[in-house]
Amino acid sequence: MHELGIMTGVLDAAKSAAQDAGADRLLSVTLRIGDMTEAIEDALVFAWEALIEDDPYVRDAKLDVIMVHPKSRCLECGAEYHHDRFNMFCPHCDSFATELIEGREMQIESIEVDMSE
Ligand SMILES: [Zn+2]
Repeated sequence: MHELGIMTGVLDAAKSAAQDAGADRLLSVTLRIGDMTEAIEDALVFAWEALIEDDPYVRDAKLDVIMVHPKSRCLECGAEYHHDRFNMFCPHCDSFATELIEGREMQIESIEVDMSE
């Protein structure tokens, strides 16, 4: 499953960031992910819950997913517009000469950790 691979990488990165900061536990992770990655939000959350349950350091960590909708720029008329995964043409001039500028990201926006005194 695509989402399990994504979340394995996210969990590793978030956990090592928390450990590097000297935190006692990871409390939450906010992930920004583009629609164009074809990841499904429910499947991401499901994969996350499966991955964290056996590790006390991350077991209570909450996952927040921000889905980023695709956005393109038209190379003919310069318009920037949001669209879905399947219809990328320019709504202003119907050009298919377009460039995707948002929607393929996959990044950890922030993490929250529990620090001891
Ligand atoms: Zn256009």
